[in-house]
Amino acid sequence: MAHSWTAGVSPASGGSTEPVLPAGTPAVQEMLRVLSNVPDPEIPAVSVLDLGIVRDVSETRVLITPTYTGCPATLAIEQSIRQALDASGYTDVAIETTLSPPWSTDWISDAGREKLRAYGIAPPPKGASASALKNNQPAECPQCGSSNTEELSRFGSTPCKALWRCKACLEPFDRFKCH
Ligand SMILES: [Zn+2]
Repeated sequence: MAHSWTAGVSPASGGSTEPVLPAGTPAVQEMLRVLSNVPDPEIPAVSVLDLGIVRDVSETRVLITPTYTGCPATLAIEQSIRQALDASGYTDVAIETTLSPPWSTDWISDAGREKLRAYGIAPPPKGASASALKNNQPAECPQCGSSNTEELSRFGSTPCKALWRCKACLEPFDRFKCH
């Protein structure tokens, strides 16, 4: 059995990185359970595991790649993880940050995408970060599922989201920007 857990590469999805759960020692599995309950500071509906922020977990350290560099949530993410680990007795576990490779929306798990949609945020299409279309692809309305949507503003409620509107049900919604 592996002693640590690493966000694995899934060959089925063209090499995009997907967390593979569970793996590692009982302590690592327990830490993953703790991390799966740490909400993203900006979107509490999804956890730091759902977003693919947690890259690697061992009994001594948690490796994270924050979303969007320069996003005010970056520091909050690390603080949330620190608090959750401390509260569960993992005070000796270090948190390390790596920015290479940079976080990508492709790392958001399928479960995370579903949670985003249920929360009213259009998840980025899978593989969008590698696509030349990027943010120009029409977003799917999280309320009614229509693709008849338009971008109102590059900047939504936070710099990490864009504001879109559905032309079918006329509801505005946030869209996760693709990276
Ligand atoms: Zn709609």
